[in-house]
Amino acid sequence: MTARIIDGKTIAAELRGRVADAAHRLARDRALVPGLAVVLVGSNPASEVYVGSKTKATVGSGMRSFDHRLPATVGEADLLTLVGRLNRDPVVHGILVQLPLPAHIDSQKILAAIDPAKDVDGFHPVNLGRLAAGLPALAPCTPLGCIILAKTVHPSLEGLDAIIIGRSNIVGKPLALLMLGENATVTVAHSKTENLPEVCARADLVIAAVGRPEFVRKSWIKPGATVIDVGITRLPVPGEPGKSKLVGDVAFAEAAEVAGAITPVPGGVGPMTISCLLANTVRAACMQAGFPIPDFSKPSSDERSRD
Ligand code: NAD
Repeated sequence: MTARIIDGKTIAAELRGRVADAAHRLARDRALVPGLAVVLVGSNPASEVYVGSKTKATVGSGMRSFDHRLPATVGEADLLTLVGRLNRDPVVHGILVQLPLPAHIDSQKILAAIDPAKDVDGFHPVNLGRLAAGLPALAPCTPLGCIILAKTVHPSLEGLDAIIIGRSNIVGKPLALLMLGENATVTVAHSKTENLPEVCARADLVIAAVGRPEFVRKSWIKPGATVIDVGITRLPVPGEPGKSKLVGDVAFAEAAEVAGAITPVPGGVGPMTISCLLANTVRAACMQAGFPIPDFSKPSSDERSRD
């Protein structure tokens, strides 16, 4: 069997199109232009690239983008003051503080200071708690992207036996809550899980978020299962000094021989994250204005029928 490739780039572009349509309709019909503030502290090159892409995507989708770049030496109190100002600013509907922050700043304190209603990254304990309680919440972007990708293969996740490998607060745990909300039967595996290959081989849906390149092998995959690979590790290309490539948590070539569908790395989960951030910004703007909240979690029927 050769797995169908789940094309995250195309699915993310389709989602971005739906989000941009919703943003344009809000501006035209209700004079509401969703706004996203991104705060970048220091000059981490990877963070600079992420922030640049987020700004471009926000503006390209008809929303307002507010960039705040602060030196790595900024104090925690000054950063908290900025977050407080953005919390009160009515044209800012979403606030994202790019992680990692410098070591002298307590990231949890900063994330907890963001108004939960503007927490488009979905990292605030209130949003995680609301997710756990099954209440409407802003959910983290990467897990949301995984759900949308899974739904391109399984329009309903109800009753699916799913395993999530990894229990981080930003991927594994919120993803498990989202999957429970979709009525899947969820196993969350982690570094202390015993017999992981056997546990994994029972699953109809495998989501790997570990951060270990090519960790999940072919023998762990039930024939026909859907595999979603969140992991991203940059590795040097053997024999090509200075060159590197991105590798996922799944041994892609061999897993594709048994899986029914699989995401590639790059081009799978990665592109979904920014599209989900834009979706959360539109949702946050609607929530704050008391307008109906659009549901972007279902892929369009075009994406579902794609083979
Ligand atoms: P993390 O380091 O916070 O968590 C890793 C998890 O893997 C932990 O819960 C740990 O228990 C589990 N783990 C470690 N070793 C294991 C083992 N031997 N067996 C089973 N489980 C094991 O990582 P994270 O932030 O959740 O990210 C995971 C991966 O996903 C990374 O490669 C990261 O770069 C990637 N990521 C991608 C995106 C994206 O595509 N947009 C977003 C976030 C994270």
